[in-house]
Amino acid sequence: MIFILNLVPSQKFQNEYFLVKHMGYDCIVVGAGTGGTTAARTLALKGYKVLIIDRKKKEVVGDKVCGDAIGKHYFDTLNKLIGLRYPTKDECEANIDGIDVISPDKETILKIQGEGIKGYMINRLKFGQRLLNATIDTGVEFLDNTSVISPVYEGEYVAGVLTRSLESGEKKEIRGKVIIDASGVNAVIRRKLRNSSVERTVQNEDVIVCFREIRDLNHEIEDPNFCKIYLTQSISPGGYVWVFPESITRVNVGLGVQNIPNNPHPRKQLYAYVLQDALFEESTIVHKGGGFVPTRRPIWSQVTNGLLIVGDAACQVNPIHGGGIGPSMMGGYLAATNVDRALEKGDLSERGLWEYNIDYMKEYGAKQAGLDIFRLFLQHTPDDELNYGMKHRLLKEEDILSASLGEDLVLNLTEKVKRLFSGIGKLGLINRLRKISSKMKEIKGLFQNYPSPEKLEAWKTEVESIYTETFEILK
Ligand SMILES: Cc1cc2nc3c(=O)[nH]c(=O)nc-3n(C[C@H](O)[C@H](O)[C@H](O)COP(=O)(O)OP(=O)(O)OC[C@H]3O[C@@H](n4cnc5c(N)ncnc54)[C@H](O)[C@@H]3O)c2cc1C
Repeated sequence: MIFILNLVPSQKFQNEYFLVKHMGYDCIVVGAGTGGTTAARTLALKGYKVLIIDRKKKEVVGDKVCGDAIGKHYFDTLNKLIGLRYPTKDECEANIDGIDVISPDKETILKIQGEGIKGYMINRLKFGQRLLNATIDTGVEFLDNTSVISPVYEGEYVAGVLTRSLESGEKKEIRGKVIIDASGVNAVIRRKLRNSSVERTVQNEDVIVCFREIRDLNHEIEDPNFCKIYLTQSISPGGYVWVFPESITRVNVGLGVQNIPNNPHPRKQLYAYVLQDALFEESTIVHKGGGFVPTRRPIWSQVTNGLLIVGDAACQVNPIHGGGIGPSMMGGYLAATNVDRALEKGDLSERGLWEYNIDYMKEYGAKQAGLDIFRLFLQHTPDDELNYGMKHRLLKEEDILSASLGEDLVLNLTEKVKRLFSGIGKLGLINRLRKISSKMKEIKGLFQNYPSPEKLEAWKTEVESIYTETFEILK
């Protein structure tokens, strides 16, 4: 169904009317999640004619299995740029003041707090509905219950999308001057691109598979404004366990593991090791489900002729904690401003859209790449070393906070700490972390200096060599 159009009763007329209408889109956005709605709304605010398509029915857009946590700073930025409202009381389940990071043996709790870490637990459906309605209110047309199957090419340009109605099964080609793939981890357009500098596939080891439940507890939690992250390779290999408060008696509890063969199923792990805790005694399930998160650097290039890629589809996610709501909205905003520039110049080629890569890498991609190296370090560090490193504050709380916000990793290498680590033969951990910290800096530098299209291949070789060196360090 198309919203905001006055539909006429005859099906034949409807189709003809639709065909005429859709020939003139400036931009078609695939996916009405957080990234897609932000891109579509930003373009409509600039006066463009935009269509947004989602396979979900209108009333369930936004309903996604998620940890539901988002940093306040994304609203600070996007409120100024496009008037994105802060979560209303109705959408906000809880205010978050900080995160407790808990060691595998649960003996050390690093309390990370400060302005940069403040955030909200949001109701995904209500938040998603608000974003969608605000997008429709700016004049964007919305086609729901419609799956996008593939890109449509005109010569070397992506010039439209092939869709299938989930109601009637009818297939249609819809054309637009430029297309944005914001279809989340499905990346329905990206996966079907012809030759381009865009990676079509993402390796399984760079993806975390998660299972989570929202549970009502039979008693109050102690600290309802702190999220808890449990690092434990033995229970959640390659990922982590989270318990995020939605209210004083409701939590979002989940577990993620690296998506590689022989790793256990996250649901099985959650039931075997997490929900056994006294906290969950006599608790009841409000909602449950699983999902995938790409936790790595952004894809090499997020544009090709006639196409930009946003959000999970472009791997715009924090590789350490898997937070992608904020980055997808930033990605959506930056993609839209570059579509605006390219349409004004009349150049929708890869080169005409290239600046989006540069803007995104400067805004978040460089931080993401640095954190990706740290993610590999965490995935390769056994629980006993993490216990020791955390207990003796190899990284202090304030340094973890700044590193998680993308600043350089500063090690707490006082003489006392060095003596402690050498005394019990854990100097290797310090040395590895020191080398990892320097690789994080190097890769960030490369992403901050994102290349021109001609120099992309040489730049990729430099980035790949940092990954090779990182794996050598972590052997
Ligand atoms: C278990 C779990 C926990 C998470 N926890 C957090 C968290 O606490 N905080 C955080 O910030 N992030 C979290 N994330 C990540 C976050 O959910 C994503 O990064 C974010 O939603 C990405 O937004 P997006 O717009 O790119 O994609 P999505 O929000 O996934 O939106 C994509 C849209 O595209 C539509 N679509 C897909 N395929 C098609 C198709 N073929 N045709 C038409 N439409 C299509 C979908 O229906 C959907 O509406 C979590 C993810 C998971 C799985």
